[in-house]
Amino acid sequence: MTVYSGPVFDMAVNQFGVIANHLSIPMDERDRLLLPKRAITVSCPIHRDDGTIAVYQGYRVQHHLTLGPTKGGTRFAPSVDIGEVAALAIWMSWKCALVGLPYGGAKGGISVDVAAISKRELEALSRRYMQEMIPFVGPHTDVMAPDMGTNEQVMAWFMDTYSMYQGRTVTEIVTGKPVASGGTLGRREATGRGVAYLAKRVMLELALPLSGGTAVVQGFGNVGSYAALELHSYGLKVIAVSDHTGALFDANGLDIPALMKHTAKHGSIKGFSTQLAFDPAEILTLRCDVLAPCAMERVIDAAVAERLQCRVLAEGANGPTTPDADLVLDNRRDEVFLIPDILCNSGGVVVSYFEWVQDLQQLFWEEEEVMRREYKILDRAFEAMSARAKADNISHRTAAMAIGVEKVRAAKATRGLFP
Ligand code: GLU
Repeated sequence: MTVYSGPVFDMAVNQFGVIANHLSIPMDERDRLLLPKRAITVSCPIHRDDGTIAVYQGYRVQHHLTLGPTKGGTRFAPSVDIGEVAALAIWMSWKCALVGLPYGGAKGGISVDVAAISKRELEALSRRYMQEMIPFVGPHTDVMAPDMGTNEQVMAWFMDTYSMYQGRTVTEIVTGKPVASGGTLGRREATGRGVAYLAKRVMLELALPLSGGTAVVQGFGNVGSYAALELHSYGLKVIAVSDHTGALFDANGLDIPALMKHTAKHGSIKGFSTQLAFDPAEILTLRCDVLAPCAMERVIDAAVAERLQCRVLAEGANGPTTPDADLVLDNRRDEVFLIPDILCNSGGVVVSYFEWVQDLQQLFWEEEEVMRREYKILDRAFEAMSARAKADNISHRTAAMAIGVEKVRAAKATRGLFP
């Protein structure tokens, strides 16, 4: 038992156990690799619009400091607790190491239902959270980014709050900012584009035609919407999407650009069409070429894994597949090609890294440059994962995580244990 124990953290522990066994990591080395270096809990009081005061619990977990600053998103959701944040921080570490970024993993968040507070309250909460975090973050200590429930605007408030305390503009304190305030071109689209790019690569390797191919996307936030748009632009029919308000299905393919316009205006897919309404619980098991879960963790359990009818499982969300489901997918390797989360959604943090580099240098790139470099890194990591999976006869997830864990382990080994 640790303070982090809970269903999501236990999943990260379980996954790490599989990797540690595969790599024969001695028992006395495991806690050093797995347990977070720092965990911060803060109380964030704000004035509500009705004049009362409300206090929200905020968290930030910094997993390891071995390779550079820590890096990771900030989640505003009712589910957020220290265990979920710690698991997400650990996954960020393996993700950053896999794709070769000079970062440890971090994650943060506030337990809050953003749909239940006003825009002014959201701004007050975002600013107070960053203010409480100032002693623990910095451009060379810990760099935040968006995650579920946060967006470019929240990042701009974070950056402004930090900068006001420093007495100068410090754009490099967070990534995922609006381009107007030091963000990079291509960050908004980066995660979804990366998911679609890798799914396309796998389809081509499996000799599946893109044109007329089918895709299902769970989640229509920043990741899911851009993944769907990109798959649509490759010629696939996106036959189903869902978000927290429901699901839509059209065997002829949904009009994704129109749906994106709708969600930009109304905040969700609700109200787009009553004719196309579908049961959200059923979309994961639809027959399709590409299934992209881009919402929550732990949506694919063993029972769902048995019933999957996709050819490619492109994990846009963090941790969508449980360890039990992994055992099922291990036996279905020839039927379902898994692109594991730490690779599949890594385009987001890769372009966050580009944003941080551009902010530090005050030298900004064209969008083509951002995309070219993003895809190059994704290709390299994909090839490393594939080669490792083949060589060791292991699943793609085990291969991807083994590469990430090995890199962190090697850095710790060469630096030694202080003092
Ligand atoms: N929240 C995203 C993730 O889970 C992005 C993190 C970042 O850009 O630092 O990968």
